[in-house]
Amino acid sequence: MSQIGLVEGNCPTCSAPTNVNPEDIIIICEFCGTAFSTSFKKIENHFIFPPKADLQTIQTELIDKINKKLKFRGVKVNQSITLEKVFVPFWLVKLKADTHYEGYRRESRTKTRTVTRNGKTETETEHITVYVPVSRNINETRIIPVLSRRSKALFGVKGISNRLIQKINTEQPMKFSKDLLLDEVERIKFLKAELNQYEGKETGETVIQDEHRSRASKDTTELFDCRTSVNVLETILLHYPIINAEYTVNHKTFRVVLDGTTSQILSAEYPITLRYKSLAVSILSILVLVPFIVYAYLEQTGRTISDVLLFITVVGGVIAFFVNYKLWQTESREVLA
Ligand SMILES: [Zn+2]
Repeated sequence: MSQIGLVEGNCPTCSAPTNVNPEDIIIICEFCGTAFSTSFKKIENHFIFPPKADLQTIQTELIDKINKKLKFRGVKVNQSITLEKVFVPFWLVKLKADTHYEGYRRESRTKTRTVTRNGKTETETEHITVYVPVSRNINETRIIPVLSRRSKALFGVKGISNRLIQKINTEQPMKFSKDLLLDEVERIKFLKAELNQYEGKETGETVIQDEHRSRASKDTTELFDCRTSVNVLETILLHYPIINAEYTVNHKTFRVVLDGTTSQILSAEYPITLRYKSLAVSILSILVLVPFIVYAYLEQTGRTISDVLLFITVVGGVIAFFVNYKLWQTESREVLA
């Protein structure tokens, strides 16, 4: 059954019949993972960072990890966990950026001179402000990752972008191949690209221009001129794997995002149970009470404590009281990285 507006065709790799929405930017074949354009042309510069483990292994490990975190909260996760392996699309823009900037920098210098007055030699110091002209270049070749999504409101997405920046400096992404998907192509979801290659390239150019300008501003008191010329060398499509997990505790759902290349937790929500709250509040209450009891005891036995100690006791008590109060009011979940 064909829907209005859809174009019928075949995957350029496995020939699976596919319907394409002309508004889409990149299509991923659900049978072999091949990326192709709306005109059914294979995208050759398609790379991925391969996922580390299959979903079954990740699930077992994750249940273990979450339960360790929940140890003092009096709850446990069993099989009530759902996992989804998702590939997030990025444009990796390799570019050469050359910036020339001019301005001046205000610096204060100390001038020392020796004077002889009435037969006595003295040194005099003087502080003066000097204006040093600055004329410098920044020349570099860099790879800028651009998230191919318009909405950045993706749970844990900030962590993924930061990871990716670190990763591309130390590791080469691999040319896409179905063999890298651990036989899970049917279970993997490819997040739709929302920026096309041209928009990705333009965003990459803006990112490097802004970064160079900000570096130039930091280097000068006043920036007169800052020009960047950007030469894009290559733009590739990169899919980065993440794992979206959800688990249920006391009929409430909590989210976890893992880095798919390492299975490390990027961001996670944990329940704040009554038991956990009570435990924390009790500990804090002791912290508030003990110093006062000690203080009262010392006063009664005629001994005094130093003012500094008294001050620390009171401040510590007040802080502990407010932390206590805040904690009691907190929501029933917390997000930890
Ligand atoms: Zn295919």
